[in-house]
Amino acid sequence: MILEQEPVFLESVTFFKIFETHLMSKEEKNRTGTVEVDPEIVEEIGDNHLATSIDTPLRTDAFDLSDGEKIKRIEKHFSEIMHVLGLDLNDQSLQGTPHRVAKMYVKEIFSGLNPENKPKASKFDNKFDYNDMVVVKNIDVTSFCEHHFLPFLGKAHVAYVSSGNVIGLSKINRIVEYYSSRPQVQERLTLQIAEELKKTMQTEDVAVFIESKHLCVSTRGIKDKQSSTVTVEYSGIFEEETTKQKFIDYIRAETEM
Ligand SMILES: [Zn+2]
Repeated sequence: MILEQEPVFLESVTFFKIFETHLMSKEEKNRTGTVEVDPEIVEEIGDNHLATSIDTPLRTDAFDLSDGEKIKRIEKHFSEIMHVLGLDLNDQSLQGTPHRVAKMYVKEIFSGLNPENKPKASKFDNKFDYNDMVVVKNIDVTSFCEHHFLPFLGKAHVAYVSSGNVIGLSKINRIVEYYSSRPQVQERLTLQIAEELKKTMQTEDVAVFIESKHLCVSTRGIKDKQSSTVTVEYSGIFEEETTKQKFIDYIRAETEM
C-alpha cells in the first residue's frame, strides 16, 4: 500500500539555513556554534563524566574577544535562556542576573581559561638541601563540571620531591585554583595540576590527589549526596609503593593546629 504523503514545503529561509549549515566546514560550525551532536553520545559522556583529552578543548580564536565583549555577549544569551524559561526580566530581582552571571563566568569561575591569568612560576634554589617530599594538604577545590556546568567542591593534596628547586607554597594553591577555574572534568584537573607542577619544578616526582563532591551527582540525576569522587596522579618516585604509601600517610595524618 502506498500512502500518499503531504508534500513538505520548507520556508526558503529555513531551507537556506539548513543548506548553509550543511556546507559549512567543521571549523566554521565550531566557530558559529552550530556543531551537530549525537544525542546518545551527549548522555553517555554526561552520565559517565568522560573527558576527551588532557588539554581543555579550546578553540584557536578563544581569546579574540575582550573580557568586556564576552560579558556583553554572555549577558545577552543568558537573558534569552531566562526569557525562554518564562521568567519576567522586568522583575527587579531578576533584572541584573544576566549581567551578574556573565561577569561571574568571565571574571571569576571560568577565569582560568585565559592563559593571561596563569600564576607566574617563581622557583627558588633548594638551599636547605631538603630532599624529602613536600606535601601541601587540604587545598580547596572549587571547580565546575563541564558536562553540566554545576560545581564540584573538594580538597586537593599535592606533593613533590625537589630536584634542586623549591616553589613558594602558595604557588601550589594558585596552580590548583587556576586549573579549577574552568569548565572541568576532575580527572583532567588532576592531570593538569600534575603536569604544571612537573614543568615548574623540573621533576617527574609529583603526586596529586583530589577528592570532591559533584553537585551534578547530588542535585540531579542519581541525587546521591553521600558519594565523593577520588582521582589521583602518581608520577616518578610516587609510583613506588613505599613513597605512595608515605604520601597517603601524610594526607591521613591529623595535626593539631
Ligand atoms: Zn556533571
